[in-house]
Amino acid sequence: MQSTVMAPAQTTYNAHFRCFRGCPGEYSVYEVMYTCPQCGGLLEVHHDIDALRDRTAAEWKSVIEKRVGTTKWPYGSGVWGMREWVMPSLRDENIVSMYEGNTNLFWAERLGKQIGARPVDQTLRQQPHRQL
Ligand SMILES: [Zn+2]
Repeated sequence: MQSTVMAPAQTTYNAHFRCFRGCPGEYSVYEVMYTCPQCGGLLEVHHDIDALRDRTAAEWKSVIEKRVGTTKWPYGSGVWGMREWVMPSLRDENIVSMYEGNTNLFWAERLGKQIGARPVDQTLRQQPHRQL
């Protein structure tokens, strides 16, 4: 059974599914499907790279760097700061984010010992909404 989520937003950028084994055909990323209907192989997301070339690599880097860590929904997220390269036409109301990504790793030796973690596992990532 396949279902469709809310219609995508209009954008100059788009993405679609393709079979990673190379079967012909493109499928909407808004269809809930995980495998190629022809061979059963996994699907991968393909972006319209020509459309993304409307900005140079340096321009994209600048755009993304300016978004990182801001509170402007949803661009402050390490994922959604690259929205055009992730899921360009997804409507804002369908995005789930807690401004994930771009968080530092902190060494937490004392906490690691308290919970019995091996030394290699004693690094914690502090999430913006979870204070340690
Ligand atoms: Zn296939």
